Amino acid sequence: MTLRKRFQLYAPKAAQATEPVGLVSDFQRFSIHDGPGIRTIVFLKGCPLRCQWCQNPEDILPRPELLYIRNNCIGCGKCLEACPARCITADGPRGVAIDKAACRLPECGACQAVCYANAITICGRHLTVDEVLEEVELDREFYDRSGGGVTFSGGEPFAQPRFLLALARAAKARGLDTAVETSGCADWEAMLPVMAHLDTVLYDVKHMDPQTHRRLTGVDNARILDNLRRVDALGLPIRVRVPLVPGLNDAPENLRRTAAFVAGLSHVAALDLLPYHRMGEPKWGQLEKDYPLRGVSPHAREEVVALAALLEDSPVRVTIGG
Ligand code: SF4
Ligand code: SF4
Repeated sequence: MTLRKRFQLYAPKAAQATEPVGLVSDFQRFSIHDGPGIRTIVFLKGCPLRCQWCQNPEDILPRPELLYIRNNCIGCGKCLEACPARCITADGPRGVAIDKAACRLPECGACQAVCYANAITICGRHLTVDEVLEEVELDREFYDRSGGGVTFSGGEPFAQPRFLLALARAAKARGLDTAVETSGCADWEAMLPVMAHLDTVLYDVKHMDPQTHRRLTGVDNARILDNLRRVDALGLPIRVRVPLVPGLNDAPENLRRTAAFVAGLSHVAALDLLPYHRMGEPKWGQLEKDYPLRGVSPHAREEVVALAALLEDSPVRVTIGG
């Protein structure tokens, strides 16, 4: 049983829960790039940014969504029969069209239940803290051996502050190493209580120029940089991460400004340059949205190495890929 199918089974329990319930899109086990050791990443749905290069577009909206993978569809018609809203219609011999405006998510989900070809999946389930951590604990043995743990990501995990606080607190109570992967675009009042339950903060800095930041992500960077200074003042280990996107934020001046800002902080272990890739592009299609960076090719490895070399004189340790 796939993870996505398996955690559907949690939904009834979460529906009756009185403890905090959050909207989770997925789990990624055996990650080695999102904090120390081997980790499980918990993806929380909802994000205030609209980054053009987003690799997890299914995590942007704070509500469950349907993903349709046309290549998987065998045209069996089961979903048409099952849909109580009659919002699915045939679209060619091996395809369907879904009128999402008429769809009855989150209450429904009948189409996914009958789609054995896995062409329709629902992204986003309401889970309790215990349900999330039971999934995370499946790999406890690997965390113990590698110094790993759980990383809360998204989306923007601080977009669900009450749930994130409960998750982080409960994870620490279970003896798990905890990390958060954040854009920093959140109210500091919501971020501060969570910090007491974190071991590492992975903090994205996407561009140093406020106007360009707004153009690329939809929001200004002032609050993001302010919050980064505040996290640093708490003394928590931080890794600053720059998603390196050709033509958008890879200008030498921007990279030097980023490194200079980070050099002014006291608890940043490294500045990680994360080369742009296109693995998230198919998900834009599955959501029936246009990919904003269509036609943008990733850097060649030598280009990334050359960009990292620009920061050789910085006192900050610079890595490629984290
Ligand atoms: S979730 Fe329900 S209402 Fe929405 S498309 Fe699927 S079957 Fe129809
Ligand atoms: S149930 Fe799945 S495979 Fe069958 S028509 Fe619907 S989407 Fe395609």
